[in-house]
Amino acid sequence: MEGFPVADEAPEAKGILCFRCGVCCMKYSPRVTTIEAEHIAESLGISLETFLERYTDDSWFEPGYYLLDTQDGACVFLCESEDPRMKLCRIHSIRPQVCREWQAGLEKRECLEGLQKCWGLMVDVSGKLSGPEEKLHEFLLIFPWWGDNSVT
Ligand code: SF4
Ligand code: SF4
Repeated sequence: MEGFPVADEAPEAKGILCFRCGVCCMKYSPRVTTIEAEHIAESLGISLETFLERYTDDSWFEPGYYLLDTQDGACVFLCESEDPRMKLCRIHSIRPQVCREWQAGLEKRECLEGLQKCWGLMVDVSGKLSGPEEKLHEFLLIFPWWGDNSVT
């Protein structure tokens, strides 16, 4: 993986709030159960057949599940927000269980990659955030939860 922002070892596992870089939604395609597919289809106001045709990968097969398709190298439901550093999930409130279970964390390569790619910031092994002053300032204005004691 290119651009992995921690030189030697990853920080200790620590849950953080998602800062919506979208990297995990670009790396993985979630699978949905039939019930989830029906629920999402209903919420989108389309039939299950149309949902499967438009949004799932028909080359993938596992009984009882469907795989969400990709578009431009990301989950088909990932979209841009007004701020290019943050992405949106078009079905966030009804996203599949696997997406709900995925938690952002300091130890996750995907989150660290997103931090570097979208913000030019890094996290050292002790979990402290570092990078150019201006970018740190912008990041903490939007995500003050990161906390003063995480910043070098
Ligand atoms: S459904 Fe939403 S949260 Fe899940 S991978 Fe797709 S864009 Fe990401
Ligand atoms: S990689 Fe981490 S920070 Fe980025 S969208 Fe996924 S969970 Fe959120």
